Amino acid sequence: MTHAALTRLQDGLAALKAEHLERHRRLLDGAQGAHVTIDGQRVVSFCSNDYLGLAADPALVAAAHAALGQCGVGAGAAHLITGHHRFHHDFEAAFARFVGKPAALLFSTGYMANLAVLTALVGRHDEVFADKLNHASLVDAAQLSGACFTRYRHGDLAQLESQLANSPAQDKVIASDLVFSMDGDLAQVDALLDLGERFDAWLYLDDAHGFGVLNDGRGGLTERARASDRVIYLATLGKAAGVSGAAVAAHTGVIDWLIQKARPYIYTTAAPPLLAACLLESLRQIEAGDARRERLRSHIAQLRAGLAGLTLGSLMDSATPIQPLVIGANADAVRLSRELLQRGLLVPAIRTPTVPAGTARLRITLSAAHSVDDVAQLVEALHAVS
Ligand SMILES: *Cc1c(COP(=O)(O)O)cnc(C)c1O
Repeated sequence: MTHAALTRLQDGLAALKAEHLERHRRLLDGAQGAHVTIDGQRVVSFCSNDYLGLAADPALVAAAHAALGQCGVGAGAAHLITGHHRFHHDFEAAFARFVGKPAALLFSTGYMANLAVLTALVGRHDEVFADKLNHASLVDAAQLSGACFTRYRHGDLAQLESQLANSPAQDKVIASDLVFSMDGDLAQVDALLDLGERFDAWLYLDDAHGFGVLNDGRGGLTERARASDRVIYLATLGKAAGVSGAAVAAHTGVIDWLIQKARPYIYTTAAPPLLAACLLESLRQIEAGDARRERLRSHIAQLRAGLAGLTLGSLMDSATPIQPLVIGANADAVRLSRELLQRGLLVPAIRTPTVPAGTARLRITLSAAHSVDDVAQLVEALHAVS
């Protein structure tokens, strides 16, 4: 006989299935890229975050091979024991210089970096102010920190202002995605910084989708935000950078504090140093990546021009490689995604609860690795299925 708690899980799974909310993992063979083999089918993929096409780039693969001979596979220990390799250290310095901040710290994932920063920065006497559309990892981080957690409507800085004005908290953090991951729009960085200055709050910006792509690859910070001591910047390194991990860049005092206090930094084995060596090469490719970014920009323009006048849904107002096509109902988005797949085009349907009810969408992401023909195929298919 199954025990009661397991039965509840099985009932929960059955309920998800009944509501068409059950999630599946697709099986990838071979390397990530614009053309992939997924569940045995060769498709053009419009759903990876590999915006610059670096994930399988020969220069990064060569860097991995070279590093492997020098540092082996495993880091062997946490950073504060003996796991902090020169490759990690060199990457942190190169990253800080590139994004224009005094210091940086490398984490194994963006999720961990968000947990680390918010839990080290604030506690129960403090308050985190968060945009409603922030990434799940920022929500979890705020909750884990024990600080009061206050959310404002997406981009509604008047609401944020009144929340800040009414806050009795000791330390305050405004936490926001810089590029919103499901909508592709940008946070108002300088206006957020104005509020941070007026109410003496930290401004923590998660640029998972902007680093490598915006401002010559340096990410979505404005020059004022780069120069400000109160801005803490996060880039994840598994998206445009094509590898894995995340880096936090900030004032030296913040980075030193994280090294002392951030539990998701301290109590975990360092990422394999060979990944840091790949990241150093990735940073070189990003710095020299104008041609990739130009190709990406031109794909975005081609898609937006091609889908103007489409009746089946409407493209959100986005200038980033995240180009959501809002359909409406969950079932319609899922059906369209399936029809596109039959034509060899992989475009995921994003449903509630990931996005608000009635705004289910096809989340198209573009990459420099796509060809003009790939984008043309998608445009043509979207007109054909509507
Ligand atoms: C992907 C993502 C993360 C998590 O980064 P990982 O390195 O994948 O753990 C955090 N924030 C945002 C906005 C993201 O899109």
